[in-house]
Amino acid sequence: MSFRATILSIFPEMFPGPLGVSLAGRALSDGLWSLEVRDIRDSAKDKHRSVDDTPAGGGAGMVMRADVLAAAIDAASTPDDARPRLLMSPRGKRLDQARVAELAAGPGVVVVAGRFEGVDERVVAARNLEEVSIGDYVLSGGEVAAMVLLDAIVRLLPGVMGNAESAASESFAEGLLEYPQYTRPQVFEGQAIPEVLLSGDHKKIAEWRRAEAERITAERRPDLKGFVGPKGR
Ligand code: SAH
Repeated sequence: MSFRATILSIFPEMFPGPLGVSLAGRALSDGLWSLEVRDIRDSAKDKHRSVDDTPAGGGAGMVMRADVLAAAIDAASTPDDARPRLLMSPRGKRLDQARVAELAAGPGVVVVAGRFEGVDERVVAARNLEEVSIGDYVLSGGEVAAMVLLDAIVRLLPGVMGNAESAASESFAEGLLEYPQYTRPQVFEGQAIPEVLLSGDHKKIAEWRRAEAERITAERRPDLKGFVGPKGR
């Protein structure tokens, strides 16, 4: 069974969007993963198909109703569905490559895209939603965040990336940022490609790349876990 993604949104027309082109899009048409998009409004209970209401306690904006969202989740995923249920939310744990890899190794995901000021808090516990943030900034809705999550997952699915090695050497793979890349022309505006890369000496090239990855990580992201430092390895 290939990886199954279900998205719950009030703007289903936003999908597949960027997930329909390039690597993810080709993998989708090749059946390496599947995408089901469900309109939360289909679970509304009134003739206006309303999904939101004013916040209890007052204040700005609207909140997505717990009963409507719970009904949408129940329609999308039965209790025996082994897929984790995620709620895109700026209050969630920040997404990283380790969590992406875990999710890619599983059966799929059910992803709720919030809108308005967010969703009624009670539905999070009642439907066992794991809140996931894509970074410390606020989007207008969870759809783009869900696309970011799925884009990162899909490229790790078996058969999606041509070269499995590229995933292993990429940024974050070992708590390191990737080494710098070069291609033709050999000289660009007076700057030459580092000579070692043209030497044909694979051992030297690997050592240089490792050292560059460690240098760049130490400079830019000393916080990345797994980073041991140039002398630690
Ligand atoms: N009032 C909320 C923000 C709501 S933004 C707060 O202050 O926390 C509306 C929706 O956009 C959210 O329900 C969520 O689904 C999505 N969203 C916004 N920023 C996000 C982020 N950084 N990561 C993931 N989802 C986000």
